[in-house]
Amino acid sequence: MESPRRPWRVVLLAIALASACSSQEAPRSVVLITVDTLRADHLSGMGYERKTTPALDVFARRGTRFDWAFSTCSYTVPSHASMMVGRYSSFHSAGLLNGQQRLLATETTLAEILRDAGWRTAAIVSNAVLGSGSGFEQGFERFDDELPDRELVRRMPERRAHAAVDRAIAQIRSFGDQPYFLWLHLQDPHGPYTPPASTPGFASSEEVPGGDRRLPVGRDFSGYGAIPAYQVVGSERRYSDYRDRYDREIRTVDLELARLFGSLEGAIGQGRMLVIFTADHGEAMGEDGFFFSHGHSVGLDQVHVPLFFVGGGVAAGRRVPVPVSNMSVFATVLEFLGQSLPERIQAPGLFASLVSGEAPPAGPVYTESHTQRGIAAAGHYLRRDRRPATDTDFWRVSPISDGTIVPLGRELSRLRPRGGHARRPLGEATSLVTGLERRLDAFARSAEEALGFHRARARPRELDPALREELRALGYAH
Ligand SMILES: [Zn+2]
Repeated sequence: MESPRRPWRVVLLAIALASACSSQEAPRSVVLITVDTLRADHLSGMGYERKTTPALDVFARRGTRFDWAFSTCSYTVPSHASMMVGRYSSFHSAGLLNGQQRLLATETTLAEILRDAGWRTAAIVSNAVLGSGSGFEQGFERFDDELPDRELVRRMPERRAHAAVDRAIAQIRSFGDQPYFLWLHLQDPHGPYTPPASTPGFASSEEVPGGDRRLPVGRDFSGYGAIPAYQVVGSERRYSDYRDRYDREIRTVDLELARLFGSLEGAIGQGRMLVIFTADHGEAMGEDGFFFSHGHSVGLDQVHVPLFFVGGGVAAGRRVPVPVSNMSVFATVLEFLGQSLPERIQAPGLFASLVSGEAPPAGPVYTESHTQRGIAAAGHYLRRDRRPATDTDFWRVSPISDGTIVPLGRELSRLRPRGGHARRPLGEATSLVTGLERRLDAFARSAEEALGFHRARARPRELDPALREELRALGYAH
C-alpha cells in the first residue's frame, strides 16, 4: 500500500511543481506512446508468463506503473479521443463507435492547447481510423498518417512499428532543443497477427496450456466462438497459433521501442522529458466466448491496459494499485507542462502523485463500449450490458456481432494489486454490488444524455473517396 504522508514528500512535490511552472529551466517535452490492442496482462512486467516485453519492463521500472489502468472504451477511436480531450467516450463527439463520428473542431484537444502555448506538436499514427479527417489531426502541426503497409487479409492500410519508430526518432531529432509534444501510435498487435520473421518466438517452457484446440473460422469479424474472418492466416486453426503470433507482435513493439527509448535517454536524464506509455484497449483470447477481437464488451480482457510514466521527476520503481483511467494522460501532461486544466474534463491529473509518491485520487473509474458499461471502485470491477437482453433491436444492430445477439449480463471481479483478478458471485457481495450499481446508474444516465447530444450534432469523418470505399467494405464506416 501507499506510504503515509511525510513532510519531505511535500517539499519534493512543491519543488517539482514549482520547477514545472518555471520559465527559467530547460523546456519540457512529452512523448505519448499508445499501442493498439495491447492487453495489460500480456506484458511480462505485468505478470505474463512469456518474456514479451523485456525492454518495456526495464524502462517502466524507471518510473511509475499503474496495476489497474482502464481505457475508456474497447474501440480505437473512442478510446484515443478520450485521451485527447479528457472525457469519457459518451461525452465527446467521436461517440462509442469506431470512426463513424469524427472528433469535431469544437473539441479542445491536448495538441491544440500545447500548440497554442508554444509547443511544437507532431503525431505519427499507424491505423487508418485515426488518419486525417477523423479529427485527431487537430492541433498537430505535423500529422503523419502515411500508411505504406497492408494488412494480410482485408488489405486495410497500416504502418508497421519499424517504420513508425523510424519516423518518431527523425521527428525528435528535427525538433532539437525546442519543447515538443509527440504522439506515437503503433498498430502491430492489432489483427491480423503477422509479426516479422525476424521477431523471435518463445521457449517451449512458455507454451500456453490448452493451446492445441482448434477453432472454426467465423463468417464475420466478431470472433464469437470462432476465428474472426479478417484474422484467418492460411490453414492455421489452432488457438496457440494465434496467441503465439499476437505475443510476437507485442515482442516486435518492444524491440522497436527499445530504439526509441535509446534516442530519448539524454532528455530523460536531464529531467525535462516525460514519456507516457499506454494502450487504447485489449484483445479477447477466449473470454466471454470471443476470440482475437475487441469492441464487443468492457471485460477486463478488453479495457485493462498498461499505463506507465517515466522521466520528468516521476518517482522510480513504484507500482500503484489504485484504479485510474488512462484518459488521465490529458490532465497529467498539462500539469507537467505547467498549463491550466480546461473545465469539463472527467479524469484528474496524476502528476502530483507521480512525483510525491502519494496515492492518486481514488474516485470511481468508468468504462464503456457500444454494448456494455463498467465501474472500477472499492477494489472491484463491475460490468453490465447497456440494454436488457430482451431489447433485440439493440443487440441486432450491434456493429461487432453482425446480427449475433450476445448479451453478457453482469459480472463482478475482485481486483488484486499487481494485476491479478478473480470473479466473485454477485450474491456474495450484495451491498457492494448495490453501491457500485447506483454509481453506474448515475453515470449511465448522464452518458446516455450526452450520447444523444453528440449524435444530434455528429459529422461523419471526411475521407478521400478511395479510402471511404475501402473502410465501407470493411464495415468501419457507413
Ligand atoms: Zn485500437
